[in-house]
Amino acid sequence: MQHAEEIVTAVQQAGVTGAGGAGFPTFFKLKSRAEVVIANGAECEPLTHVDKELLHHHPADVIRGLKAVMAATGAPKGVIGVKGKYTDLVAKLRAAMADSPELSVAELGNFYPAGDEQVLVYDVTGRVVPEGGLPLNVGCVVQNIETLFNIAAALDGKPVTTKYITVIGAVRNPVTVRVPLGITLRQVIDLAGGATVPDPVVLNGGAMMGEVAGSLDAPVTKRTKVLLVLPNEHQLSVHRRTSRKVFDTQAIAACDQCYMCTDYCPRHAQGHAIQPHKLILLLASGVPMTDAQMAGALLCCECRTCNYACPVHLAPGDIALNIKRDLVKAGLKNPYHNQTEVSSTRDYRRVPMYRLVNRLGLEKYDVEAPLTALNQTYDRVTLLLRQHAGVAAQSAVTIGQTVSIGDVVAAVPGGALGAPVHASIDGTIVEIRADAIVIEGERHAA
Ligand code: SF4
Ligand code: SF4
Repeated sequence: MQHAEEIVTAVQQAGVTGAGGAGFPTFFKLKSRAEVVIANGAECEPLTHVDKELLHHHPADVIRGLKAVMAATGAPKGVIGVKGKYTDLVAKLRAAMADSPELSVAELGNFYPAGDEQVLVYDVTGRVVPEGGLPLNVGCVVQNIETLFNIAAALDGKPVTTKYITVIGAVRNPVTVRVPLGITLRQVIDLAGGATVPDPVVLNGGAMMGEVAGSLDAPVTKRTKVLLVLPNEHQLSVHRRTSRKVFDTQAIAACDQCYMCTDYCPRHAQGHAIQPHKLILLLASGVPMTDAQMAGALLCCECRTCNYACPVHLAPGDIALNIKRDLVKAGLKNPYHNQTEVSSTRDYRRVPMYRLVNRLGLEKYDVEAPLTALNQTYDRVTLLLRQHAGVAAQSAVTIGQTVSIGDVVAAVPGGALGAPVHASIDGTIVEIRADAIVIEGERHAA
């Protein structure tokens, strides 16, 4: 295993970022000192299969990536968190780490949101991340499974040029695929045989935390993980079309302050000062959205678990996340930084995944989506310059320049927090936009 600095440099140069969520540049986390590295294989969102499939097909690479993060951060312990229901996978992982006493598998319950980093940290270590804090505050670094896979590749000098994505829902053949960065969402959905419904709604990121894909011509980025294709009239499609004004008005009119939303909030269960029912009370009282009383919303992780908990089908989660985004935009800082304790009822307030799938009307789509190698080729990719948190990368190429897979096409300006972008197909630079670089080339396999 390389030295810590070599690992950090290799990961930085390879453009590795969190392969889901906010896409935080991974090298930065690797510069920290930690006691435990947790590989997040919880598959938090309903109907996602990427983590499980990667662990099944590439356990050695993921374990190698995990060991690299441990080496970089000085952590003596590494844990892979996976759902205990995958008994074959748990056995396979334990066999793969038989000679590594510093590694272990944590069997997670089949509930939502098992993959929330703070929930995961507590379930694996019994440590509570403080309000507004990070796993690092309690000695933990959490890494996504695909990120670990990419770290292992980075150590071999291979930059991030592809993405693993589950395509599921109203498609002919639900599937998990590896595709070049920059192809369109439509092309990915075609790999699953295309949508089976006219005018589908695509939730990019999944049922709970995903966003409606505005255009199927949008490119795949390093953060694309699951495309949930739904009929236009599906309850989730309708929910996402509902305006904020309607959510607010319904809640002000119908919320009876029963407290169920707060009771089921996984962050509140950690003792954090987020109380969605109170936000609705404040809304009803006419307090301005950016009033300091609303500040608890800054502790919301946007999981929407509280939507599930509401007995009268209000949307406290959407209300909380909208207020949070307003506060962030207004520059308000989170005033809560307490080291809290978990609620004694935490373990009785978990949302079983099968109940959630049922409540969301997704039972018929709850099927396997096996990782499948497809001999598909692509002759055009659009590589966004900001596929990650931090500053956008800046073009390092010129129109007409020939590039090969893995060449840097956009670099991070001097020392800033960000990630370089690499060519995902061989070809020629045909367009350099403010937000993206377009490559056209010969057709290449995914
Ligand atoms: S979305 Fe709801 S349940 Fe999730 S953290 Fe925010 S308030 Fe809590
Ligand atoms: S669960 Fe629903 S009705 Fe109860 S307090 Fe929360 S938003 Fe109001």
